[in-house]
Amino acid sequence: MMKIGFIGLGNMGLPMALNLLKAGHQVSGFDLVKSQLDAFANAGGIVTANANDTAKDADVLISMLPASHHVEGLYLGDTGLLANANPKTLLIDCSTISPKVAQAVAAAAKAKGFVMIDAPVSGGTAGAQAGTLTFMVGGAVGAVECARPILERMGKNIFHAGANGAGQTVKVCNNMLLGIQMLGTSEALRLGIANGLDPKVLSDIMTKSSGRNWTLELYNPCPGVMENVPSSKEYAGGFGVDLMLKDLGLAVENAEKLDASVPLGKLAQQLYETHSKAGNGQLDFSSVFNLKK
Ligand code: NAD
Repeated sequence: MMKIGFIGLGNMGLPMALNLLKAGHQVSGFDLVKSQLDAFANAGGIVTANANDTAKDADVLISMLPASHHVEGLYLGDTGLLANANPKTLLIDCSTISPKVAQAVAAAAKAKGFVMIDAPVSGGTAGAQAGTLTFMVGGAVGAVECARPILERMGKNIFHAGANGAGQTVKVCNNMLLGIQMLGTSEALRLGIANGLDPKVLSDIMTKSSGRNWTLELYNPCPGVMENVPSSKEYAGGFGVDLMLKDLGLAVENAEKLDASVPLGKLAQQLYETHSKAGNGQLDFSSVFNLKK
């Protein structure tokens, strides 16, 4: 049994923390939203008053926050974790953030005697609930091996991508592809529906054909085709449009710095932006199926 602190108990963090509780660990946690804290407490989690209390006495501290500035705010500065936690605590940031920020926070952690890894995830809320996430890890080999038994309680595939920041770089590439695939799958389904096809029949056939992909097979964006996905729950929960937009922003920014060509990534960014500006930012990203353009 380890003492684990978990900060950010949202759509992903809460089910991940619950899997650590199920594995018999003592888990304390903090979030800004009371309903999330209540759900965590009901499952046996220890709710703390703030992030520094969560980190107190923890063997491992995991953060699962929305974006780069939340992670900087949590770890850096006089009130941040690096100034207040015990350097023996292994730090694991699972948020999807800029690779540069991940490197900078890990370097600041190292300067204070901490070991830190970036470990963003793929697999969605269903993967978080089932404990089948894929972790893309950046950091020193020894740190990754220390973290592995904990990550294995939340995920099925744990990949060491390279040095600090490498996990985030893999995640940025993956999510650019995911955002593009969701748009492509939505377009194909809409075209079929416009021709009078049943979207379920069309999906079944494409799933066994060369258009097969994760968004079609496991996260179908057309309501009614699949149970237990956001499209069948009015696009509630899941992975928000604004989070996808953030990730496409990270991809395009990264590509521009390196002069890498990502025209589809840029177009996807524009389309999700249009969708967000139409008031859909908090819906699941598969709601882009309804994009009017
Ligand atoms: P979310 O918005 O549901 O959860 C984030 C939580 O962090 C919220 O509950 C918020 O209250 C909390 N929070 C923000 N600032 C805080 C602070 N200073 N202290 C404590 N809590 C704080 O987001 P999510 O869907 O759980 O995503 C989290 C991260 O995981 C994001 O970086 C996202 O890109 C990534 N991700 C999400 C999915 C998905 O399917 N939802 C999949 C893979 C990766």
